[in-house]
Amino acid sequence: MAELRPPIESGAPDPMPYMHPVMVKNYGKWSFHSHPKPGVLYHRAESGDEIWTVKAGTQRQMDHYTIRELADIADQYGDGFVRFTARSNIEYMVADGSKVEPLIKALNDKGYPIGGTANSVSMIAHTQGWLHCDIPGTDASGVVKALMDELYDDFVKCEMPNRVKLSTSCCEINCGGQADIAIIVQHTKPPKINHDLVANVCERPSVVARCPVAAIRPALVNGKPSLEVDEKKCICCGACFPPCPPMQINDPEHSKIAIWVGGKNSNARSKPTFHKLVASGLPNNAPRWPEVAEVVKKILATYKEDGKPWERMIDWIDRIGWPAFFEKTGLPFTKYHIDNWRGGRANLNASTHIRF
Ligand code: SF4
Ligand code: SF4
Repeated sequence: MAELRPPIESGAPDPMPYMHPVMVKNYGKWSFHSHPKPGVLYHRAESGDEIWTVKAGTQRQMDHYTIRELADIADQYGDGFVRFTARSNIEYMVADGSKVEPLIKALNDKGYPIGGTANSVSMIAHTQGWLHCDIPGTDASGVVKALMDELYDDFVKCEMPNRVKLSTSCCEINCGGQADIAIIVQHTKPPKINHDLVANVCERPSVVARCPVAAIRPALVNGKPSLEVDEKKCICCGACFPPCPPMQINDPEHSKIAIWVGGKNSNARSKPTFHKLVASGLPNNAPRWPEVAEVVKKILATYKEDGKPWERMIDWIDRIGWPAFFEKTGLPFTKYHIDNWRGGRANLNASTHIRF
């Protein structure tokens, strides 16, 4: 086993000591891989060594009982080596193909679905939500659990035209990424300011500097230093809330959910793309978000029906055109889909290659 490097306070740990020995031995020397069935990957090394990977979905937020159960399955049915993916899937590596089916059965018996590979719907990538972050407008992890319950069949089967990556983000401005379908919080009203707290809690110049449209000004309110917002300029982005929680923007009624489609990081068949807004103003309706699920399922069903083999979501939309996308999915196209913000020209010039 490789030697442990000294601990550091941040960053990913050295993976080599935790890696399956067959993977350590053949590191960088793989000659072939295939996808025998949904949720299972096969790799063969130049040395002739083989390894199978079995991918199981989890409920996203795991207590230590669940993690122990998953680890016990690895010891009993696998080779004792697992890894968690960025999407909270767990992957078991085994060097003996005869272990694959008993391992799948053990996982299925405990309620863990096997899938998420190739042209399936992947587990939803998500931000932290109410559990960890201090600024979310929704519970990203809850959206993941509720939606994956609805998309179970699409996770365990490979019936989509190509891979479908989904994501959720619990605010509009920070973590998150590009996805074929992205579910993103959308604030629709400017922040309400708690003037009694601003002077005690906030560093006012940094809050003023934070606003992308210069809508915040210092102000004296009731004789105390505070802030004011020009509501005509405010684009409800929420950027002022993290450095100054008294700029309260989360609202049970006015913080909504929007759906964006067609983003991808891959450059396999076409260049990487940013996703685009297609549905907005959906209620932030915990704990099951049924209105969001309905729109996501509608988009997925249309793409499954109409996409050609190996077309990613954006390739399909580029082929049929945006008007046909809205017609076929039945989603209404409104004036709110048009970016008429005065800074929008910079957005239109933006790409994953050019930034200015
Ligand atoms: S998306 Fe925003 S609210 Fe959600 S975890 Fe990231 S920073 Fe926090
Ligand atoms: S919500 Fe965004 S645009 Fe509105 S005042 Fe705050 S930082 Fe500025």
